[in-house]
Amino acid sequence: MAAPHQVPDMSVSDRTRIRPSKKTSLPFLDLKAQFASIREDVLKAVESVFESQQFILGKEVQLLEQEIASFLSVPEAIGCASGSDALYLSLLALHIGRGNEVITTPFTFVATAGAIARTGAKPVFVDIDPATYNIEPSLIEAAITDKTRAIIPVHLFGLAADLDPILEIANRHNLAVIEDAAQAIGATYRGRQVGGIGLCGCFSFFPSKNLGCAGDGGLVTTTDAKVADELRLLRAHGSRKKYHYEILGTNSRLDTLHAAVLRVKLPHLQSWAHRRAEHAAFYKTLFEGTGLATILRLPSIPAGRTHVYNQFVIRAPRRDNLRAFLDTEGIPTDVYYPSPLHVQPAFSYLGYEHASFPEAGKASREALALPIYPELSRQDQERVVTSISDFYTSNLA
Ligand SMILES: *Cc1c(COP(=O)(O)O)cnc(C)c1O
Repeated sequence: MAAPHQVPDMSVSDRTRIRPSKKTSLPFLDLKAQFASIREDVLKAVESVFESQQFILGKEVQLLEQEIASFLSVPEAIGCASGSDALYLSLLALHIGRGNEVITTPFTFVATAGAIARTGAKPVFVDIDPATYNIEPSLIEAAITDKTRAIIPVHLFGLAADLDPILEIANRHNLAVIEDAAQAIGATYRGRQVGGIGLCGCFSFFPSKNLGCAGDGGLVTTTDAKVADELRLLRAHGSRKKYHYEILGTNSRLDTLHAAVLRVKLPHLQSWAHRRAEHAAFYKTLFEGTGLATILRLPSIPAGRTHVYNQFVIRAPRRDNLRAFLDTEGIPTDVYYPSPLHVQPAFSYLGYEHASFPEAGKASREALALPIYPELSRQDQERVVTSISDFYTSNLA
């Protein structure tokens, strides 16, 4: 006989009715909604490239380069095959390679340090500012040696790194500044577009970036006409004239089809960024309403900068438990980045210890990216925040 305090077994359907084991999931990023809003223009642009049967460089790429240069207020923009190659080609164009060192952050996508290493130069890491996740300028000078040639600040998640002190240090030590703006197209620093402030700026058109193409694509900007000329050579086998090779280059062109798609999307970029920022503000209001703003750390934007929210990243205690709980609630999240680059096997040869960059380590244990995209609804944002609140106010945490 069952003990009196035991409740009778519920059938599976009863349990489902009371507490669904998996609710309908909202998307982490809704690119289908974006496509639906520009479908006709995209298909027309793609069709016209097919009609021309001109798939390599050409007018579409040239026009996109001009339009982006004008959007960023830079003299030169050069399309290439990816954001990773944008970084790699920039370094090659500045003749950085074996025997050189390049300073960057360990809290970034692998491509930043990977591009440095691919040239034969040595990546030298500097810890981050915990409030912005970006390289901490006051730590840079201690990392400079007589081999240092450049600094690559990353504008992580869509927020500009603190460029003024970085440019000042770079000028004093005669170093190039290459901005990794892969996540930050449209963000500003003291009124200027990021990726147009250093000697070179690198962009990615990977589909999940704020300006995404239909595959891989990238672009480099530069303020220096000679560097621009070298970049154009490097992306096309070092060749200006057919079958004449001035320098050793590679094949890293931006495809005509991608340029055509990007030219349809570029005019929407500002309004999409504006909507992302509105959603970020609404998240903030909701978190403050629940009292969670004291437990969590929300994105903070220093004066003089704008954030384009490629990611909306909070810091959360017991992050991995929270993430698992949200998953059962149908709320997708992501972790950028679960381990900093200095602890990755690919960079073990650099000889860093786990504790070398404590702030990057801490960020990798606490950071959690919530859904953010222009088409995100207020109801879905409320659902995200309510679930996070449930986690911390119940004994689930
Ligand atoms: C996406 C990204 C890159 C690389 O861009 P790809 O186009 O994917 O090669 C480089 N740096 C950062 C910070 C990125 O987020």
